[in-house]
Amino acid sequence: MTAQKLPPGLHIDTLAVRAAVERSQYGENSEALYLTSGYVQPTAEASAMRFGGEEDGYTYGRSGNPTVSSMEMRLAALEGTEACMATASGMSAILLMLMSLLKAGDHVIFSQSMFGSTIKLIGTEFARFGVTSTAVPQTDLDAWRKAVTPDTRLLFAETPTNPLTDVCDIAALADIAHNAGALLAVDNCFATPVLQRPVEFGADIVMHSGTKYLDGQGRVMAGALCAPEQMVREKFLPLIKNAGMVLSPFNAWVVLKGLETLGIRMQAQSANAMAAAQWLESHPAVSRVYYPALKSHPQHALAMKQLGGNGGALLSFDVKADNPEQARQRAFHVLDQLQVLSLCTNLGDTKSLLTHPASTSHGKLSEAQRQAAGIGQGLIRFAVGLEHLDDMKADLLRGLDTL
Ligand SMILES: *Cc1c(COP(=O)(O)O)cnc(C)c1O
Repeated sequence: MTAQKLPPGLHIDTLAVRAAVERSQYGENSEALYLTSGYVQPTAEASAMRFGGEEDGYTYGRSGNPTVSSMEMRLAALEGTEACMATASGMSAILLMLMSLLKAGDHVIFSQSMFGSTIKLIGTEFARFGVTSTAVPQTDLDAWRKAVTPDTRLLFAETPTNPLTDVCDIAALADIAHNAGALLAVDNCFATPVLQRPVEFGADIVMHSGTKYLDGQGRVMAGALCAPEQMVREKFLPLIKNAGMVLSPFNAWVVLKGLETLGIRMQAQSANAMAAAQWLESHPAVSRVYYPALKSHPQHALAMKQLGGNGGALLSFDVKADNPEQARQRAFHVLDQLQVLSLCTNLGDTKSLLTHPASTSHGKLSEAQRQAAGIGQGLIRFAVGLEHLDDMKADLLRGLDTL
């Protein structure tokens, strides 16, 4: 767990390619992939000390791996937190956070426009174990305030959200949490630390699905919690050792290498997204575009402050229609004409991915719930990749110009 020696004060771009555990005796320049589940102990005494937590050193794959440590160090450096704990997926990061910080009787407040599995995990699964929760509208600060109870331990938000890119005020939520003696956790999956560092606005924990932009090329599943060192050591580490939702070293290595290009990918994909958003907004077959960097976005000013003047790489748009049935047909038509971009329910890839939320991620909601969430039948989510903008436009026009 010894970090590579680097001078203090390095920039984030530098840490994104340099932060890692120290090199092995072979001096490899690209970080080594340690595919091992166990570690040979130098002496029985050292082994006892390591198991007792009195000495640093790897013992068994469930409690640590050098490749995983490198990924954790690099992501912590990017997020500006003291430490990080990697997990097998984004959802297992949330599971680890909830299991290690909460007990029966505790209360959680979360945004009702969070990732669907997050809502189910907190609202349904943890309810079975006596953890209560309140889902509130993402941008209604009064609703967050009113939901606080004496048992509130955690506020959890995701910003911008999927698929409508709603932005919440991280600093205001941090105040509400801290005044209640609770913690604020932020799912930073869509912005990534390149565009938004939630701890700078007062968040206590930053949660990631490494499956998305951190890997960035749609290869592996991964997750992480970035947090103060004490929380990682005293809360997350004991739990993950026993519960075992650890990240595989191979997946950690893929994400570690992905982090090296995160900065340039996010800048390039966000620039493509901005151009695509402006272009879609002016297309006669499109009724509305949801993208934080557009002036038409309801939280535009706040978004620009939190996202460093950038809009991110994800946008959604509504295809114009007279009724929900026609809207669904038209959205399907646009998606079915694609010859280059992918119809695929993932995001954060260098390949552009499009989905129809109303029939996939939000397909289990009733029509009334969907309307309340603002997910219409004509809505298409566009996770913008690195293809040439002209090719993206041409692929979308195959459908948009033949409605
Ligand atoms: C994908 C996603 C998750 C879950 O991550 P997995 O790696 O799929 O488990 C959580 N939050 C957001 C915002 C996501 O997009």
